[in-house]
Amino acid sequence: MSTGNVLGKAQLGGLFFKERSIVIPTHVPGIGELRISERALRLLIMWLISSFLAMLALALVLQMINSRRAYLEDHGRETILLADATAASIRQLVRGELAAGRTPRNVSQVDLQDALLPSALDNGRHFIIVSATGEIGATVPVDPALEGRGVVDLLSSSFVTGAGLDDTRVTRLTLADGTDAHVVMRNLAPLPAVLLVFQDRADILAVWTANTAKISVLFIVTFLVLVMLGAAFHWQSSKAAEADLSLAVATARLDTALDRGHCGLWDWDIANGRIFWSKSMYDILGIEEEGEFLTFGEVAERIHPADADIDKVVDQLLQGQRGVFDQEFRMRHENDQWVWLRARAEITRAPDPLTGRLETGDPHLVGIVIDVTQQKIADKLNQEAELRLKDAIENISEAFVLWDADNKLVLCNSKYQQFHSLPASVCVPGTPYDAVASTAKEPVVRQRMKLQTPDMSEGSTFEVQLGDSRWLQINERRTKDGGFVSVGTDITALKKQEERLLQSERELMMTVRDLQKERLLAEQQSQRLADLADKYAREKTRAEAANRSKTEFLANMSHELRTPLNAIIGFSEVMQGQMFGTLGSEKYLEYAHDINRSGQFLLDVISDILDMSKIEAGRLQLELETASLAGLIEEALRIVTPRANEGGLEIISKLDAKIEAQVDKRAMKQVIINILANAVKFTPEGGSITVSVLRRAGELAIQIADTGIGIPKPDIEKLGRPFEQVENQFTKTKGGSGLGLAISKSLVELHGGALQIESHVGKGTVVRVVLPVAVAEAAKPRRRSVG
Ligand code: ADP
Repeated sequence: MSTGNVLGKAQLGGLFFKERSIVIPTHVPGIGELRISERALRLLIMWLISSFLAMLALALVLQMINSRRAYLEDHGRETILLADATAASIRQLVRGELAAGRTPRNVSQVDLQDALLPSALDNGRHFIIVSATGEIGATVPVDPALEGRGVVDLLSSSFVTGAGLDDTRVTRLTLADGTDAHVVMRNLAPLPAVLLVFQDRADILAVWTANTAKISVLFIVTFLVLVMLGAAFHWQSSKAAEADLSLAVATARLDTALDRGHCGLWDWDIANGRIFWSKSMYDILGIEEEGEFLTFGEVAERIHPADADIDKVVDQLLQGQRGVFDQEFRMRHENDQWVWLRARAEITRAPDPLTGRLETGDPHLVGIVIDVTQQKIADKLNQEAELRLKDAIENISEAFVLWDADNKLVLCNSKYQQFHSLPASVCVPGTPYDAVASTAKEPVVRQRMKLQTPDMSEGSTFEVQLGDSRWLQINERRTKDGGFVSVGTDITALKKQEERLLQSERELMMTVRDLQKERLLAEQQSQRLADLADKYAREKTRAEAANRSKTEFLANMSHELRTPLNAIIGFSEVMQGQMFGTLGSEKYLEYAHDINRSGQFLLDVISDILDMSKIEAGRLQLELETASLAGLIEEALRIVTPRANEGGLEIISKLDAKIEAQVDKRAMKQVIINILANAVKFTPEGGSITVSVLRRAGELAIQIADTGIGIPKPDIEKLGRPFEQVENQFTKTKGGSGLGLAISKSLVELHGGALQIESHVGKGTVVRVVLPVAVAEAAKPRRRSVG
């Protein structure tokens, strides 16, 4: 572990430099990868230990086998040499004796002893002299039990009888007592005996066995030590793997936390100008990791020029003028956008590499960096929103003030300021209510009315009339956070309007009262009118009854008059014609003539009166039929022409025989005769009468124009009423009842038409019977019931 980072060691278990996982962004093995490599290493070491132990064991076994064989061979050779030397020594002894002429005696134990080399008896070697008879002579070491006994008791007979003498090799055989032994036999000729050297294999291998045991113990110890070392390593490495795993998990967690939190770790080795960054820091700036460290220059060139006073801050930190580094600055992202960062760090010292002391170590600026770009954007948006809100509140027509839950000013607009005549120094957020209230100049309140609000707990509404007769409506409401908002609205205009409305209402009420009086009056009048109408109806009924009785009287009278009148006319005609003889005097004839004319006139008048009364009584019903107007006019002309001729008048007729109309023929003929008769009557001699039928849009007209005396304008309107006459010489001379035009007018109107009269005094008169075409063409025929 490096000791290069004090804070890193202290806070993050010294993970910064070697592991590189949290803050050193070089290769970081994944947790799985880490486990696999650890396990492989562990297995490899276990395998190595096992292999080593196996190889060692194998080598030891081989070594023991080889050393055993070598040991046995060496001992064999040694035994052979000793046997040869001993045999040679004995032979020499015997030959000496023989040379001295002595009979060679049996070799005694002393001789044998003498013949032996100093180390001949090592390792349990036994030397025996066996006579030619097979009897054991001397033994060294001395074994009294064997002496005198047959060699067969010691060795197997096959060996004794068989080869074995002067053999260059030792012979392995099992002795009679079962001992596994090496045996060497040498001929002692000229002495008739043999030297037998035997050695128990157990004695031979005693040293080897002891050595082997030692080596085995050594091996076992080595084995145990190695096994323990292996186990210890295994345990250690398991622990290490667990630690690595925990470390990797913690590392990953920290990395994730840093990444998610948009945080980065910095370690700026100020003395060496090196900056170490965590992986998340590279991610924040979108740059690729290159190398372990960044130089200060690399970092500085990414810092926004306007924020490049970090050096000064660091100097202040180093000089102790500042406690912590807490700066906001911008760094250029790889995509050329500026990322807002907030760094909080402090100066720490790495342990001195020589002394390990912190005081003398290099200064490091170690800390954390947070990406605050989003917060900056949000702050900007908030600021804009706040400005907009303030602007809106400033521009409303009401006085606005907002207090927080601690009764401190949050916001007010200039209207509020003006309203209370507040200095600008008081209108700052955070000013306590009491301070504002004590400074405010409250307006003179002439009248204060509390209005009902739907929910009184939510606040209250006042209407206040000020000294300058302005009206204000003040709405006060609690805000959700326990604060208070108050809005003052100038309602002077509304109040004036209200007053006007009240005035209008008063006026309206007065008008209503007047109208009620008028209505009462009207009701009284209408009551009077109703009474009058009632009276009128009664009068009318009475008049109608009177009229009816008049008409009936007239009808009866006419009927009654016509009978004697017909007799008078008839008898006067008889007298005029002097049917029963002459009358005698001329005077009688003249009287008869006068009687006839007067009777005729009277009969005409009576007929007219009868007709008029029928029309007035509504008893005349028309019987319509299609008739040629020209035909009707010609019939009328036939009646009138004689009189016209008498008067020296010219009659001009412009008739179209095709023009037909739906008319009551008798009535229409009577109308035409009446008008023609008047024309003839009121046209002086030499005049002319023009009769024509006109067809105009929607109507037909029979026009009779004369060049007669004419009628004065004021009189025209009166004509058509019964018994109306224009006073002139003609009426005087020619007579007339004044009923002709009245009857004609009534008959034409019964046809749905109208009688039009145009006249100029002295020039002539034009009378038009105008009939509507609809009536003229589509009127249905009706029964005529006259009288
Ligand atoms: P009368 O039997 O008296 O002629 P009318 O009703 O026929 O009654 O006429 C009423 C009056 O209208 C007449 O007395 C006359 O003075 C005047 N009058 C009618 N027709 C003519 C006419 N063509 N020219 C001048 N005056 C006329």
